Amino acid sequence: MPLRGLAKAKNFTLGPTAPMKTFTENIHIQTKESNNFRNSGKSHKLTNNIQNENLFRYESKIKSDFDEIVPTLKEIARIQHHEDFINKAQKISRKNLGIDLPLHVLDKSWVKPLDMRALYAWCAFKQHEKLSDNFFNNDPLEGAAGSRDAEDFEKFLLDCGIHLLDITPCSDGRLAHSVAYVMRIPFSSVRRRSHAGALFDIENTVNRWVKTEHKRYRENVPNEAHKDTRYLKVVTYHFSSVDPLHQGCAAHGSNDELAAAEGRNKLYAFKEAVENSFCCGASVDLMLIGLDTDTDSLKIHLSTSDGGIDLEKTISTLEIYNSTINFSKEDAEREICQTISKQSSKDKLSLLI
Ligand SMILES: [Zn+2]
Repeated sequence: MPLRGLAKAKNFTLGPTAPMKTFTENIHIQTKESNNFRNSGKSHKLTNNIQNENLFRYESKIKSDFDEIVPTLKEIARIQHHEDFINKAQKISRKNLGIDLPLHVLDKSWVKPLDMRALYAWCAFKQHEKLSDNFFNNDPLEGAAGSRDAEDFEKFLLDCGIHLLDITPCSDGRLAHSVAYVMRIPFSSVRRRSHAGALFDIENTVNRWVKTEHKRYRENVPNEAHKDTRYLKVVTYHFSSVDPLHQGCAAHGSNDELAAAEGRNKLYAFKEAVENSFCCGASVDLMLIGLDTDTDSLKIHLSTSDGGIDLEKTISTLEIYNSTINFSKEDAEREICQTISKQSSKDKLSLLI
C-alpha cells in the first residue's frame, strides 16, 4: 500500500520524501552510461531543435534567477558598513536580480548586522513573483488559451475522440515539467492536478467529469453532448532508470510496480464510479503512463484484450528513439506508426492516424 497521511503525521520528517536535488551534470553522465540515450551526440531527425532551445533557455533563465540570490547577498553583506550602503546595495540587487531590496531591512544595517534571512526570503518571493508575472503576461511556453499551439492541439484531441484531457502526475517536483516539456502539450489544453504518488481523489475527479459533461449539454463546449467523444483520464507515475531503488516515487517506496498498480487501481475506481453513478453508457477512457525522471522518456501502458490496462506491456519512447535514431524523418514516422500498430488493436490505431 502507498504511504498515506505523512504530511499530517507528527513524525513526518521520518517518512519518505522526494530525493534531494541531484546536479544535472552527474545525471547526464550516468544516464549516458546506463541508457546509451545520447547515441554519440547524434540528433534524431524528428527532434524539434528550435522548441528544445526555447524550453532550455526558459528553464536556464529561471534557474539562474534563483541561483544568483546567494552570491548577490554575499556581495551585499561584504559592503554593509561602507559609505552610501543602501544605494550601493540596491544597485547590485537591480543589476544581478532585477529587483529592489526592502528599505526597512537595509535601513538597520548601521545598528545591527544585516538580516540576511529576511533578505533571502524577500529575494526568493520576488523572483517567484517575477517569473509568475512573466508567465501570465508573455506566455513564454506559447501554450496559453487561444494560442495557435493550444487550438491545434485541442482540435487534434477532438479528432482523436477526446473532449477533455485530465492528467494527474505525481506531485514530486521532478514531474513539474511533465506536460509542457516531456509530453509537449500546451498547458492550457490540459486539466492538470498533481497528487502524491499520482493518487488522485475519486470524488473530486467525478465532480470535474460532471462539470465537463454539464458544460457540453449547456454550452456545447468543447463540443456538443451528443458527439461520441470521451473524457480521458491519465495517471503519470514515475521511476528512475539510474537509481531505481532510491530515486523512484517516494510515496510508493521507490517500488515501480507498486506505483503503476496503484495508479491503475485509481483509474479503475474512477471509471467504476462514473459508470455506477450515471446511466446511459456513461464512461471514460483511461491511460497509464510511466515517466523516467532521469531521461524524461515515457512508458505508455497498453490495453489488455478485455480493455483493461496492462501493467507489463508498454511502449517505450526511449526504445523508439534509439531504434529510429539513424532513420530519415519519413522512415522514422513510418516506423513509429508500425510499432504502435503492432501493439494496438486496429480501432485504437485509427485514432492516431
Ligand atoms: Zn512520486
